[in-house]
Amino acid sequence: MIQADLHIHTAYSADASIQPKNLVDQLYAHSFIKTIAITDHNTIEGYHKVSKLASPYEDILIIPGIEVSTTEGDLIILGIPEVPQKPLTIGNVIDFSRERSGLVIVPHAYRANGLGDLAKEYKVDAIETLNGSSPLNLNRMAENLAKEMGLSGVAGSDAHTTKLLWTVYSEIQASSNIDEILKAIKQGFVKVASSPKSIGF
Ligand SMILES: [Zn+2]
Repeated sequence: MIQADLHIHTAYSADASIQPKNLVDQLYAHSFIKTIAITDHNTIEGYHKVSKLASPYEDILIIPGIEVSTTEGDLIILGIPEVPQKPLTIGNVIDFSRERSGLVIVPHAYRANGLGDLAKEYKVDAIETLNGSSPLNLNRMAENLAKEMGLSGVAGSDAHTTKLLWTVYSEIQASSNIDEILKAIKQGFVKVASSPKSIGF
């Protein structure tokens, strides 16, 4: 089993300040979080930077990801080190992911820029049921959405600053391998968890 924070922004997101070098140093120092997904807004530059810096460390795994601002709300794609082409409708972004065997996650469905109930109309792979930057009641609503849709729930800190890193994380029944991890999430072999130090969860 691995523990992974599946929603992290670096300074390559306009609204975030986490420096790639600092992120890799903190991963190196962490006792059990060794897998993360970089999910910057509409760019994969931060992923490439972090991935390069982490490459000397065998136990650290960086999953390529992107949080796409679709015309209908935010969507996270994991597993594809590419930016989808415009127009960024939900349908186009989901097709982009399917064609490249990525994983589609609906982040913070009921927060600003969330898809809300609209998610039910699309074939997504998982729902972010524990977002480290969302209030408890909105995470509960996302949990209900996942149940209703019969999909896996995943967790990600949505950290934009270092102090919010891995407040919550996903426990995945897979080894440290991207294909295995994405497959395990699709098949439901995942649970959400929060760090003892995080408050409010
Ligand atoms: Zn985010």
